[in-house]
Amino acid sequence: MHDLLGLSPDAFAEQLVTTLGARRAFAVHDPASGRVTVSHPALAPLARFLEGDRRDFHEHEGLFFEVGQDTGTLMGAFVHCTRRGNAQGGLRYWPYPTVESFLRDGLRLAQGMTRKNALAGIWWGGGKGLIARAPDERWRDPDFRRRLYREYGRFTTSLRGCYVTAEDAGTRAEDMRSVFETTRFTTCIPPALGGSGNPSPATALGVVRAMEGALDHLGLGSLAGKSVAMQGTGNVAAAMIGDLLAAGVGSIVASEISEEQAASVRARYPGAPLEVVVVAPSDHSILARACDIVAPNALGGVLNPQTIPQIRARIVCGAANNQLLDETRDAQALRERGVVYVPDFLCNRMGIVHCANEQYGQLPEDPAIQRHLGRTWENAVYNVTRQALELADGEGITTAAAANRLADSLALHEHPIWGHRGRTIIDSLVRDDWRAGAS
Ligand code: NAD
Repeated sequence: MHDLLGLSPDAFAEQLVTTLGARRAFAVHDPASGRVTVSHPALAPLARFLEGDRRDFHEHEGLFFEVGQDTGTLMGAFVHCTRRGNAQGGLRYWPYPTVESFLRDGLRLAQGMTRKNALAGIWWGGGKGLIARAPDERWRDPDFRRRLYREYGRFTTSLRGCYVTAEDAGTRAEDMRSVFETTRFTTCIPPALGGSGNPSPATALGVVRAMEGALDHLGLGSLAGKSVAMQGTGNVAAAMIGDLLAAGVGSIVASEISEEQAASVRARYPGAPLEVVVVAPSDHSILARACDIVAPNALGGVLNPQTIPQIRARIVCGAANNQLLDETRDAQALRERGVVYVPDFLCNRMGIVHCANEQYGQLPEDPAIQRHLGRTWENAVYNVTRQALELADGEGITTAAAANRLADSLALHEHPIWGHRGRTIIDSLVRDDWRAGAS
């Protein structure tokens, strides 16, 4: 296929159907040979790209693609590692300019989920789902979305459970309802259908536990009396403000781009030592405030060469995903500045912990969830934060590298029953000619 990586996802989908006569394609890693096998000889450039890439491809077990029969949309499921259990990770509905950007996002996010799940001590592998959003306006149409997400559910079902989907950027609660109409391999379904509901309060509390771990690591005592600067006052941040106030922080200043959201948070905590400032989206000056802890709770990529030299806090610890614009460069810059950065995938794990095992039902004060927030379980957020920060100090490496090292070692642990079952499923899909079907 000519310039496959530079094609738009729509053009790639069209070529699959018209040139190859296929709705499905895959790329599967063979651990014995170290090579990548593709479903169609014309996709050889895809295999060469993956085998030659050192940045985002890390022996991902299998990549699966399907062009929806109904909507013609390119859908993907990226399975990174299933040693701890089948691959779990959210479904992102996002515009991608090229097939390469689609692949890179899926590969990176799937490996990130392996690490997040392993570091959280939960028995799930790592994966990610992507739907390429076309540059037209159909994504705004509820009927189109319903058909699309039902299609994604059927695609997920066809993968026999090696990938289990969930909610992520661009996907909404009502979309998860549609997914659940056509697959059992999903979490994060609405509470009315038996799901676990809003994970944000749990996520907030996990981040606060990580802040406590970082403070103790530095010998700075408890949160009482500390000053916190926070970017964003959305679902997670609004709950976090309550947790921080309960812990007795001295002051919180938060930035927010939405007037309405800012007003609602001010009204939620009357009389609290809280200031909410409304800013323009490009204004990141909140990160430069003189304070003890900075909590990025809004966007990714905010820790970068523009912002890092301005940071005055000793600790950066927040819920936003992918805070470092460049994982290696920016983690190193923070270290050189003497800032203790708690990696996001370590401290924001409670979102996935909250919904990952929801199919087993729910308990109030569920001990399997609560133990993440205590200090006795070795995998608790507090303890793993301390462990990662100590490893970074001991080895003279960045906290991101330390957390990755811990996570990559844990990711090799196989669950006694479910361990690496996903790999068996992937082999069965290849053997049973999955590529010839359509959902
Ligand atoms: P949200 O959309 O409810 O909140 C984000 C808030 O940030 C919004 O109020 C938005 O207006 C504000 N914002 C956006 N750009 C801003 C800017 N430049 N300056 C200041 N404020 C800005 O999202 P959320 O669910 O609270 O999640 C926040 C972050 O945490 C996201 O990166 C998300 O991926 C991550 N995360 C969330 C969970 C969860 O349980 N919700 C779990 C893990 C990770």
